Amino acid sequence: MKKTYEILHNSDVMKKAKDAIFADRDNTIAQHKALVLVPAFSRHEEKRADFYQQLMEAEGFESVRDEVNNVYTVIKGEGNGPTLYFTAHLDTVFPMDTPLEIKMNGEKYACPGIGDDTAALSQTLTLLRAIKASGIRFKGDLIIGGNVGEEGLGDLYGVKQFFKDHPSGIDGFISVDGFPHSIVYGGTGSYRYEVKFHGAGGHSMADFGMPNPVHAMGRAIAKISDVKVPYEPWTTFSCGVVEGGTSINSIAHDCKFLLDIRSDSKECLDKANEEIMACIRAAVEEENARWAAERDRDEKSPYKPGPGQLPHADRTVSLEIVQVGNRPAGSQPVDLPLIRACAADYEFFGYETGYIPASSTDSNVPISLGVPGVTLGGGGTSTGAHSLAEEFDPTGLEQGVYELFILIAALLGVEGLTDPLLPKLA
Ligand SMILES: [Zn+2]
Repeated sequence: MKKTYEILHNSDVMKKAKDAIFADRDNTIAQHKALVLVPAFSRHEEKRADFYQQLMEAEGFESVRDEVNNVYTVIKGEGNGPTLYFTAHLDTVFPMDTPLEIKMNGEKYACPGIGDDTAALSQTLTLLRAIKASGIRFKGDLIIGGNVGEEGLGDLYGVKQFFKDHPSGIDGFISVDGFPHSIVYGGTGSYRYEVKFHGAGGHSMADFGMPNPVHAMGRAIAKISDVKVPYEPWTTFSCGVVEGGTSINSIAHDCKFLLDIRSDSKECLDKANEEIMACIRAAVEEENARWAAERDRDEKSPYKPGPGQLPHADRTVSLEIVQVGNRPAGSQPVDLPLIRACAADYEFFGYETGYIPASSTDSNVPISLGVPGVTLGGGGTSTGAHSLAEEFDPTGLEQGVYELFILIAALLGVEGLTDPLLPKLA
């Protein structure tokens, strides 16, 4: 694989590409700053997708906009080569009303979303310009663009949609997203839920004897807290937010909690999920049964139900579980050609490759579908991801983009120079 990088690196076409990328630095930074000012909270990416698409078209590339706002262009190779989907995510973790302003700090610049993932997004456009300027002809096909829905409750819906639209024919996937000189090669899976408890609601004293949604929720959380999960593969759960009730002297109508379950293995994720769901159902049953067993309270109560009213014990708590997240888990061997080619690229330029066995990124989707996929880093370095103080340091920006360019060329093969390092899937 080293040979491939040597041949490419020393070729005329790659020199042209490198010169184009280095000469493009100011333009790359200008587009980066322009893109970051367009808010793009997950599932609200339309405006940024519009702008990104305009920029892509302005470079002379015909763009595809799918039904969920993924934007990409297809660069056909000479035929018979592999197809690589290369993408950066359009969305950020910042709600649409987050003030966006670029603050300079010497060469560095700060703005929410500047690193994750607007830096890589702008670099896809630099790569396109370098493809055009160098006149390079790949053997395989390149699909390159920006995708929606990587963050939070975006739930990877962008890449999920892409693979729904392309159930076959994609041989490799690269997402560029803040892992400098590293390769994320496994997907941590997660299931996320809104767990809601509903009841009749009433007076804390007069309606005593009625199943209580908040008590049912308390039972559920207590049971979940005791679930045993494996250390290896790493499997976790957390009730992150609890909400509900109306006042201190009321039995609540409604309450809910948000639940996050994760694992590096689909099997362990499913097992933890099943146990936790059983805990929640049992909690509701126990809350209802506890009051059913004291049904005679109504007889003795000074606050008997009125005529036509249900006995208190029959005003049971019901459960509603809404799945709000489903990120597939997946693993793949670390010696796949795609992964080796990425490592060879880093090593060719003198870096030590960081191998990250699992994270929750866009490459979860292809990996879970059996398509080789990785998440990498791009040019420049960013700090403070997901914080309002997120900052980008453009030192080495153009070199990082060139390293991505040569990786794409190595994977797809270049007419008259090298064969693809990325095998076609059977
Ligand atoms: Zn990201």
